[in-house]
Amino acid sequence: MALRRIVLHPDPRLKKAATPVASVTDDLRRLADDMLETMYDAPGIGLAAPQVAVMDRLLVMDCAKEDDATPEPMVLINPEVVWTSEDRNVYEEGCLSIPDHYAEVERPKEVEVTWMGLDGKTQCERFDGLWATCVQHEIDHLDGKLFIDYLKPLKRQMITRKMQKLKREMARG
Ligand code: ZN
Repeated sequence: MALRRIVLHPDPRLKKAATPVASVTDDLRRLADDMLETMYDAPGIGLAAPQVAVMDRLLVMDCAKEDDATPEPMVLINPEVVWTSEDRNVYEEGCLSIPDHYAEVERPKEVEVTWMGLDGKTQCERFDGLWATCVQHEIDHLDGKLFIDYLKPLKRQMITRKMQKLKREMARG
């Protein structure tokens, strides 16, 4: 396993829709392993392939967040939301591609998602709470959408300007 470099906003790769995965290959398994390691190392609770510069529809997540919780790593290939609850929920979201910026985002409280597992089999599960927010945030990444796209333009522009400045500073070393 290896850590992958996380793509930081603003970057055209974070604005592009990812491509459906045709089949589970060794490369894809390696990608999923690397993404889980990168996510835990960050640390974060979710990571989508475009965030490590791979334009495949794959995401990893683990929202079993408490310190003593047993890890529950999940790998979702070609995930699709097939049902959303009318009830909505507000969470303060962050993103590994937009470090140190957080904002409240409202989304459906529960969602049902289908996906292909690493075993190639189709799975379907209903998510609630933080898991529901996380899976929607990550699926958005696969469609080229970021959580700041839900914010008012002024706030979004402020975050983007700060990120541009951060990237300039990082480039200068
Ligand atoms: Zn994110």
